[in-house]
Amino acid sequence: MTPLVQSLRIGGLTPLTTLDYPGELAAVIFCQGCPWRCRYCHNTHLLSPEGRERIPWSQVRAFLRGRVGLLDALVFSGGEPTLQAALPAAMREAKAMGFKIGLHTAGPYPDRLRRLLPLLDWVGLDIKTLPADYPTITGAPDSGARAWESLALLLEAGIALQVRTTVPPHWRDPEDLQPLTDRLAALGVGNHILQTCRPTPIPDPHPAAGETASPLPAAASAA
Ligand code: SF4
Repeated sequence: MTPLVQSLRIGGLTPLTTLDYPGELAAVIFCQGCPWRCRYCHNTHLLSPEGRERIPWSQVRAFLRGRVGLLDALVFSGGEPTLQAALPAAMREAKAMGFKIGLHTAGPYPDRLRRLLPLLDWVGLDIKTLPADYPTITGAPDSGARAWESLALLLEAGIALQVRTTVPPHWRDPEDLQPLTDRLAALGVGNHILQTCRPTPIPDPHPAAGETASPLPAAASAA
C-alpha cells in the first residue's frame, strides 16, 4: 500500500529562499488545491487539486536529504496546504530530518490547523479582511469565520506568526485598512504586513448573475 505521504500533490518547489520564512534559509513546496477563489489570487495554477506539474514526495525527500545542514526550514505553501490529508505526514518526515516547519495558509480549515500545531515552528497566515467581508474576496460564505478562528488558534498556541493582508485595488484610502489593523492589534497580533495586489489574468471568479463561475474543488478527506 502506498504511504499517505506519497499522495501529497505538489505543484512546485523553490530550493532556496530567504523571504518565505523570515530569518531562516528555507525551501518551499507549493501544494496543489485551494477551496477559495480570491479575486486577486496570483497562484491560479495551484487552485485545482490536480495541477499540470506534479513533483512526487520521493523527489522532495531526496532533495531534503541533500540539504540537511544547509537549509534551516521547509515551508509548505500553496494553494492551500491544509486542503490535503497527506500534509501532516509530510511535515513529520521533514521535521524528523531536522528542518523547521513553516506553513503558509489562509486558514480555511481550523480543525486541521489545530492538529498541525505541534508540528509548526512558524506560520504566515493570510488575514484578508474583517470576517463579514470575506465572501466578497473569497467567494466562500463561511470563509471569514474560518480564517479568524485559525488566527485565534495560532495566537493561543503561541506559534511564531506573521499575519499578511493583500491590499485589494478598491482599498485606495489607507483609512480602509484601519478597522482591520485595529482589530488585529486588539487581539495581540504584533507582526502584520501588507502585500501589494498583483493583477491576475483569470476570469472574475465571482461573476455576475447569468455568468459561470470557475468550479471549486472538493476538500480532501480530513487530515
Ligand atoms: S486563499 Fe485565495 S489567494 Fe490564497 S491560494 Fe486560495 S484563492 Fe489564491
